[in-house]
Amino acid sequence: MGRYTEAKCRLCRREGEKLFLKGERCSSEKCSFARRSYAPGQHGKVVTRRSSEYRIRLREKQKARRIYGLTERQFENYFNKASETKGATSEKLLEYLERRLDNVVFRLGFASSRSTARQIVKHGHILINGKKVDVPSFQVKVDNVVKAGPKMEKPVKELQEKFADKIPPVWLSLTSELEGKVVAIPKREEIDTVLEDHLIVEYYSR
Ligand code: SF4
Repeated sequence: MGRYTEAKCRLCRREGEKLFLKGERCSSEKCSFARRSYAPGQHGKVVTRRSSEYRIRLREKQKARRIYGLTERQFENYFNKASETKGATSEKLLEYLERRLDNVVFRLGFASSRSTARQIVKHGHILINGKKVDVPSFQVKVDNVVKAGPKMEKPVKELQEKFADKIPPVWLSLTSELEGKVVAIPKREEIDTVLEDHLIVEYYSR
C-alpha cells in the first residue's frame, strides 16, 4: 500500500487520537479531532469495533507508521533492520525512525510537521556538514551538522517566533537559528512519541 494522501485529519480520527500531522493547525481550535473525535465516514459515530489483540497491535503499528509518514514497505524495512540489530527491537525501531533526516528537521523546529520537513528536504534546502542532502530517509549520525539553507531563513524564523517554547530533544542541539547538531543517538526515553512500541513488535512476531 502506498503513502496515504487523503486528508491527514481522517487518520487521527481513525486512530482515535491526535497524531499531530498538520503542524500549527494541530494545536489550534481548527483541529478536526478536537471538533469531531469520532471515526470518519457515514457510520463513524455509531460503529464500535471489538478490539481483538490483533487489532490492538495492528492499530499501534498503523499509528506509528502514520506519525512518521511511511509506507507499509518502508515501515516494515525499518522493523526488519531493527530486529537484526543488537538491542531491544522496539527501541532500535524508534531510534531509526527518529534518525530520519525529515524527522530531525521537524524536531529542530525548521518545519511545523514531518510532512513539511520532508518537502523541505526533497527540495534541497537542507545541508549536512555543508553538503546538500535531499533524501528524507537519510539517517543522521552523531556530530552531523544539519543546516537549513538561506531560502529557509524567513519561514524558520517565523516558526521559531510562533513556537518559542518548543525546544529540541536532548540528543539534538540548536547551535543557531538555522543550524543544529546531532549530539547523541536518541534513547527511547528521550523520544516523546506516544507509542506502545512493544505492541508493534508483537504485531510483526505473530
Ligand atoms: Fe490530527 Fe488535529 Fe492535526 Fe488534523 S489538525 S492532523 S486531526 S491533530
